[in-house]
Amino acid sequence: MQAPGPARRAILAGVVLVGLLAMAGAVRWVATPGVPELGAAAGGQKASAVVQRGGFVMGSYVQITASGPQAAAGVDAALHEVRRLGALFDRFEPSSPVAQASRYAGTSAVEVPPEVAELARLASALAGQSGGAFDPTVAPLVDVWGFGDEYDHHPPQAPPDPARVERARALVDYRGLRLTRAADGSWRLGLDREGMALDLGAAAQGYAADRAIAVLQEHGVASALVDVGGEIRALGPRPGSDDGWRVAVRDPREPDRYVTTLSVRDGAVATSGDYERFFEYQGRRYSHLLDPRTGEPEQGIASVTVLHPSAAVADALATALAVLGPEAGLELLEQWQPARAMLVTTAGEVLWLDARPRIEP
Ligand code: AMP
Ligand code: MG
Repeated sequence: MQAPGPARRAILAGVVLVGLLAMAGAVRWVATPGVPELGAAAGGQKASAVVQRGGFVMGSYVQITASGPQAAAGVDAALHEVRRLGALFDRFEPSSPVAQASRYAGTSAVEVPPEVAELARLASALAGQSGGAFDPTVAPLVDVWGFGDEYDHHPPQAPPDPARVERARALVDYRGLRLTRAADGSWRLGLDREGMALDLGAAAQGYAADRAIAVLQEHGVASALVDVGGEIRALGPRPGSDDGWRVAVRDPREPDRYVTTLSVRDGAVATSGDYERFFEYQGRRYSHLLDPRTGEPEQGIASVTVLHPSAAVADALATALAVLGPEAGLELLEQWQPARAMLVTTAGEVLWLDARPRIEP
């Protein structure tokens, strides 16, 4: 996810609002005219107010929009929850549970909070179903390719030495991730071999979007949109209408153009793209979406957008499908109905994959 420039940062730092285009890394949501402006209701009634707040979490822009009487309190609490989860899943913060599990790889399992256990379970399930194309222990490969912590300051200039890639690839194996639950209900996460490391970054933003929606619902909010670095979850209709929220999917090669606009209500849209973190070398693009089976960045898919009721699932599937491509991707989608996906190939083709059962006339 690319950080916005200073001007944009300034605009988005505080309480902002409504009726405008809101930029996210991969996706834009579009609020159409007719959305009531904050404070525009007669007599300052807050019931119709739309509240929108944002901030940065783990290098990505987060934006939460909600309407209704409890919207302001709900949005604040939801943002707080996203920040809390961002800290848990930050593998570059040495004290985070994800970093601790990696630190003790090959030595001992560490206790992790239920949120980390839940996402690790989802990621492990997807890893098995995808034959390891998706793998939550991909971290050594991410780092050797230069897409880790240093990417923002020192983006890589060239592919790493093949011997280093091979050493990193040999450490990537989801079957070495052990999750156990103790009698008291606590979770422990262990990694079999020294040098292995956990990376839940392929689904953490979607997971945080799901949690933010749950917090908003606890506040009685019935209409909201949560955008965590381009992974989006919608609740209820768009304010002032019976329709869903409009989510526009970015053209992976033309940031100012959309491939399509989706209407989303009570569901999630997540996008993975080869334009988020990448470098070019000798005319070829190398992206952060890595295929653990080869050790190389995926080739041929520019972006994948997945629709699913859960943002965590949509987020994980989007990353998985970028690596798997359309045929194997459709097989994986069949196991996650009612998932749908839109792939944009590097040749510019747009492919829709829909695994939902068809009702024959
Ligand atoms: P996303 O933007 O959701 O597609 O997540 C991309 C991030 O997922 C990368 O920056 C890596 O940290 C991680 N990742 C890359 N390749 C894989 C993979 N094959 N399986 C799981 N996670 C991956
Ligand atoms: Mg993802």
